[in-house]
Amino acid sequence: MRRSAPRTLISLLVGVVAAFGGAGCGGPATPGSSLDPADRINVVTTSAVFADLIRNTGGERVAVTNLVPNGADIHTYQVTPEDMRAIAAADLFVMNGLGLDDWLEGTIKAASSDKMIVRLAPDLPGVAPLPGETAATQNPHLWLDVTYAGGYVDRVAGGLKAADPDSAEAIAATAAAYTQTLADLDAWVRDQIVTIPAENRRVVTFHDALPYFARAYGLTVVGVAVEAPGQDPSAGEIAALIDAIRASGVRAIFSESQFPTALMDQLARETGTTVVANLYTDTLGAEPVTSYEALIRWDVEHLVEALR
Ligand SMILES: [Zn+2]
Repeated sequence: MRRSAPRTLISLLVGVVAAFGGAGCGGPATPGSSLDPADRINVVTTSAVFADLIRNTGGERVAVTNLVPNGADIHTYQVTPEDMRAIAAADLFVMNGLGLDDWLEGTIKAASSDKMIVRLAPDLPGVAPLPGETAATQNPHLWLDVTYAGGYVDRVAGGLKAADPDSAEAIAATAAAYTQTLADLDAWVRDQIVTIPAENRRVVTFHDALPYFARAYGLTVVGVAVEAPGQDPSAGEIAALIDAIRASGVRAIFSESQFPTALMDQLARETGTTVVANLYTDTLGAEPVTSYEALIRWDVEHLVEALR
């Protein structure tokens, strides 16, 4: 972040915008809404999901760039020359870690940036390991448990405050408001999932994105189509998954927005189930799935519709 903008000019701009805001709507101006873009904390992150969490945590004090476009696979993403320019201009990096987007760390090192990196997922307080997991094999998709997304917000707020101590109080206020939004969202998810008959609370997804979501909200993941994105399953693995789908009586299998559906269509044909297109997991999408909250609401509404 550049700190060279004259304070007096910023104060003048604040005054002008506050005057307009007061005249137009009668309410108070949004705190910091007039911040010069050059005076914001310039955050570079990987997914649009994290970008939205960062915007909601830092409010107008942050400018966020996500490197992975919606519809691309974060697990196998290749950085572009444009990404390198964004990385060079960053004040702060935010990544998930646990193997999801660790390519960013290598890229930052190659660019010789000494800016701070916030890793959202590793050793997140309050996270119990999944059965059979070790620290080296931990599933990275913590954010799909809304409670854990609240832990991400705490870490983002800590990073933003360290990058811009002058804005610490404002960041604490926006982060607290968003944490409450997430607590309400978590309660809403629980209210929705219990409307699915218990015997139907079983899912198959394209990749292994939902284990924390499933554990938090009482679903069972019967299987996944690919062990890791970028690796096609063997004929034997597909046959085993077909057996598992048949044995479990799962009613619907879920494709994901950033992955092709051909394999899911094949699984559905061979098992007599239905493919429910496009849960959102690692990325956001077009309207209405343009925020983390909208992603959770979209996924839950489509799960309930398919399984109830
Ligand atoms: Zn993923």
